[in-house]
Amino acid sequence: MSTDMITLRHVFQAAQTIAPIARRTPLVSAELLSERVETAVSLKLETLQPTGAFKIRGAANKILNLDAAARQRGVVTVSTGNHGRAVAYVARHLGIPATVCISELVPQNKVEALQRLEPTLVIHGQSQDEAGERAVQLQEEEGLTMIPPFDDPDIIAGQGTIGLEILADLPEVDAVLVPLSGGGLISGIALALKSAGPQIRVIGVSMERGAVMYHSLGEKRPIRMAEEPTLADSLQGGIGLDNRYTFQMVGEYVDEVVLVSEDEIAEAMAFTLKELRLVAEGAAVVGIAALLGGKIKNPGQQVAVVLSGGNVDMNTLLEVAAKS
Ligand SMILES: *Cc1c(COP(=O)(O)O)cnc(C)c1O
Repeated sequence: MSTDMITLRHVFQAAQTIAPIARRTPLVSAELLSERVETAVSLKLETLQPTGAFKIRGAANKILNLDAAARQRGVVTVSTGNHGRAVAYVARHLGIPATVCISELVPQNKVEALQRLEPTLVIHGQSQDEAGERAVQLQEEEGLTMIPPFDDPDIIAGQGTIGLEILADLPEVDAVLVPLSGGGLISGIALALKSAGPQIRVIGVSMERGAVMYHSLGEKRPIRMAEEPTLADSLQGGIGLDNRYTFQMVGEYVDEVVLVSEDEIAEAMAFTLKELRLVAEGAAVVGIAALLGGKIKNPGQQVAVVLSGGNVDMNTLLEVAAKS
């Protein structure tokens, strides 16, 4: 399957497929943020998903598209937390076995949240890539179906349903800011939005520490980088040297990728908690960080920001908020 075979039709199909499991989230205007940046800003609250992050959309679409035999054998995945949680949640909802591989760097709050969903949990290696090698082994040895975190047509189409919902709720949208790591989220959203209105700007936001997609685009090929600790821990991880879909789709559909510093992420976390009164994780607030940091030139009159998840360690959030 080449990327031009993932179309708007698949995103609409995904919307129907995932409706029983994933929530259609609200797009809410953020008055205080709009005043600060002098443009109308709306927030897409993926923090309200049953698993606390958008990844349930892609996972639900992928797993619900498996045949009965594959479902019975079970699924396996590798994840920094939110994707693993989504796969475990969907599998439990459907009554099929799930194995989740995570690296030793995944924070304790995410490990505990995963354990509550009762998958078979495998903690292996110092990076997402190393945990991934273990998942491939299990796939081969036990006949499990791999549910990739981002580089997969069903996953991309599932995440793209966010684009459909933004368009339905705010058809006049000028620009959409999307947290960017492996690029499944932004590829799906950009496919949906650019198919409907090529003039809608789709902007990716990554952290300065380990912006693998950004540097891969610069090098014109997928590259590998060392993982560094960051407040945006859900954005950690590579894009895969053998990337098949998202590298090309981001290159094709995304207008721009901007980077934010750890200080800017911290400020946005504090602002989101104290002013907007929302609990969001570091990875989720990078769009707000980009706006507050003046990183978006001429954003237009209507900006939508994807608040991708709320699975933050509460001690970390309160410490960051207390310091600002
Ligand atoms: C996974 C994740 C992202 C990034 O999504 P990609 O598809 O990897 O680009 C952003 N925010 C949160 C909260 C996530 O869990």
